[in-house]
Amino acid sequence: MKKILGLLLVALLVLPGVAVTGIATAIALSLAGCAPGPGPGALSPDAPVPEQARRWVHLAATTCSDIPEAWFAAVMAQESSFDPNAYADDVNGGTWGLFQINNGVWTATYGAPWSADRNGNGIWDVREPMIHAEVGARYLCGLLAQVRRLREANPEWPAATQLTELEALALAHNAGPGALRWWPDVSAGVRSYVTTVTDRALEWTARPASSSADPRADIPETARVVMPLAEGSYNDSSPYGLRIDPFTGERRFHYGTDMGAAEGTPIVAIADGLVIHAGYLAGWNNIIVIEHTVAGERVASAYLHMWDWGIHVRAGDRVRAGDHIADVGAEGRAKGAHLHLEIHPDGWTAGTVDPLTWLAAHGAAAHSGASSSTARCGW
Ligand SMILES: [Zn+2]
Repeated sequence: MKKILGLLLVALLVLPGVAVTGIATAIALSLAGCAPGPGPGALSPDAPVPEQARRWVHLAATTCSDIPEAWFAAVMAQESSFDPNAYADDVNGGTWGLFQINNGVWTATYGAPWSADRNGNGIWDVREPMIHAEVGARYLCGLLAQVRRLREANPEWPAATQLTELEALALAHNAGPGALRWWPDVSAGVRSYVTTVTDRALEWTARPASSSADPRADIPETARVVMPLAEGSYNDSSPYGLRIDPFTGERRFHYGTDMGAAEGTPIVAIADGLVIHAGYLAGWNNIIVIEHTVAGERVASAYLHMWDWGIHVRAGDRVRAGDHIADVGAEGRAKGAHLHLEIHPDGWTAGTVDPLTWLAAHGAAAHSGASSSTARCGW
């Protein structure tokens, strides 16, 4: 893919506003009392990534710890199909290697041109996978910093609010950072690149250490099933199933149901269970996952779009049906405040079903408010 240096953008870069300081402090305080679970972001052992490429992906993620392994793997797959010798010609002189980097970007990051062979083994360094993975990761880390500055300085751009950080990075890597200004008015090819990389990174992310044997066996049968939001506090805004993606305009499967509600509306656990993840998860952004035993069967519920300060449980917490676990927010891929709820029969690593159908089939009770609060974080 063609890379654009984006030199013109230097003029557009503005220091982040100081107004965010108060919010950052609030987040820091809330995190101090309520650390989210570890966001693994590691490559799933099931991902179709060649064994040797896993070393390259791992090196890239070690070099740039802000970008998860699964995302690096998805970009490598898309750019070069993990072929270190991949080359694509274009009007700007072409791109080489795992991340398909052009000579200008390579030289600026590596300090020597494509044809450099610093270790004298007769192979251009740009074509050596361990060197390319490290240099490419440094370049992408710098690009991510640029993407963050652009989004902070231009909050009115759709790319600042409608894309996750990694989607914006995929966009910048594919079409140059200048494309952030035009999103979503970019070519279908660019939109499809962003979607493909995002979907793959999600699919290839290792699931949170799912309480595989012991803790799961320990989840008692739930006493009852309740709706996640109180009656009258929400409206059904987007159903489960195939729909037009509100961000890209493409047909995409929607794995949950969206319940529109005011920011801060309490979200309650739909059943007794064990929290297996609460907080940021690469590819998902903020998410709470709870595993339950309902009618003798394992089932997981997942809750998305809460802000950091709207997450009131931690991995390992035991909750009861109706416990206040979170507050509705608009974090991540959200055009407005809502709860995206997923139901995974057979557990978190299994597929999804229509949550509203599942809840109805299990006699989910409407309720008028949270029955209790875990109050773990003092909110
Ligand atoms: Zn949704």
